[in-house]
Amino acid sequence: MRAAVVKICARFGDDYWLQRDRDGKFPEELYRALADDGWLGVCIPQAYGGSGLGVTEAALMMQAITASGAGLSGASAVHMNIFGLNPVVVYGTEAQKRRMLPPIVAGKEKACFAVTEPNAGLETAKLQTRAERRGDIYVINGAKIWISTAQVADKMLILARTTPIEDVRKPTDGLSLFYTALDRRFIEVREIEKMGRKAVDSNQMFIDGLQVSAEDRIGEDGRGFEYILHGFNPERILVAAEAIGLGRAALSRAAAYAKERVVFGRPIGQNQAIQHPLAQCWMELEAADLMMLKAAWQYDNGVPCAPAANAAKYLAAEAGFQACQTAVMTHGGYGYAKEYHVERYLREIMIPRIAPVSPQLILCFIAEKVLGLPKSY
Ligand SMILES: Cc1cc2nc3c(=O)[nH]c(=O)nc-3n(C[C@H](O)[C@H](O)[C@H](O)COP(=O)(O)OP(=O)(O)OC[C@H]3O[C@@H](n4cnc5c(N)ncnc54)[C@H](O)[C@@H]3O)c2cc1C
Repeated sequence: MRAAVVKICARFGDDYWLQRDRDGKFPEELYRALADDGWLGVCIPQAYGGSGLGVTEAALMMQAITASGAGLSGASAVHMNIFGLNPVVVYGTEAQKRRMLPPIVAGKEKACFAVTEPNAGLETAKLQTRAERRGDIYVINGAKIWISTAQVADKMLILARTTPIEDVRKPTDGLSLFYTALDRRFIEVREIEKMGRKAVDSNQMFIDGLQVSAEDRIGEDGRGFEYILHGFNPERILVAAEAIGLGRAALSRAAAYAKERVVFGRPIGQNQAIQHPLAQCWMELEAADLMMLKAAWQYDNGVPCAPAANAAKYLAAEAGFQACQTAVMTHGGYGYAKEYHVERYLREIMIPRIAPVSPQLILCFIAEKVLGLPKSY
């Protein structure tokens, strides 16, 4: 599997990604190549056109993409297709699955995931976007932020409040999930200028009177939070795999450069001050990879995986960051030049550190759920 993905990615070299980083164009060619060979449906059941494989296989695939040098620009272009529609697979009706999944597998439709809001941040239960039921439709009003691929998406998976927070038993109740058209007549999508991954847009979304058929609601009214929670662990596993792949790409560039660059009459890589940080990065990436594979194995075998999935995302993002940072420093001044690529990796590796959940919140989760300490937030 990995070899097949590596082969596809080899068609998109460093110059391609440097160019996308400059012009910000969506990497449609990689997206198409992966769609044409059936990779977008890796986790979708065979009945709906996918391959029906597990999160382990998806993680290997995503890791191969970032490790090829495509980085997050490559992985984020397909990330949503790979596991984003998991709530539809698990909680959708048969008719919804037949309608929603095949176009995603075939690469005929792109989708985005609209959860984060400006006034709620990580406190998802406090989101303010409202979906009001009027007969057979819901009318959605609100604002979202950081929504990736909304410039190019045809569809969105959106979480909105259907019952006011004052009327529910607990704050996470009363949220509902919809998979529906991103109808630009009722949604203004405004791109955020950001630090890296220019080719895969992130946006503010202003939703004003969007009408959504009740047939586009996934599962029961009011249980949307529970449904997206189900997809959190596999998403953390994929993000971990992506971060490790990018860290490895940075590390291999750094090691190659350290062998070649001669200063003071010898390759810089002969100095322990250069070697040791690189060796440490290798060990940290390998350890994070094992944690990621443990979490993936647990998920695929129905074993509770939240501690391992959270730990994997944390460890992989930090190890990936160390590797990218060390790669820049190993290159000295050239590390700061775009043509050596590692500065791009450093800008991109910040994304798996921050999203979809911050390192602080992972530490809070482990402290509370694994160590039994009091909830701190
Ligand atoms: C490039 C990019 C792409 C994204 N794509 C998407 C997307 O497609 N869809 C989507 O829905 N979202 C997306 N996001 C949003 C992302 O998931 C959020 O940015 C992330 O969840 C953090 O939320 P926030 O930025 O509002 O941080 P906040 O909630 O404002 O938190 C800010 C900081 O405070 C810390 N903090 C808050 N409370 C505590 C506490 N109690 N204890 C300790 N620390 C605390 C946090 O850890 C964080 O460091 C994306 C973000 C980025 C940067």
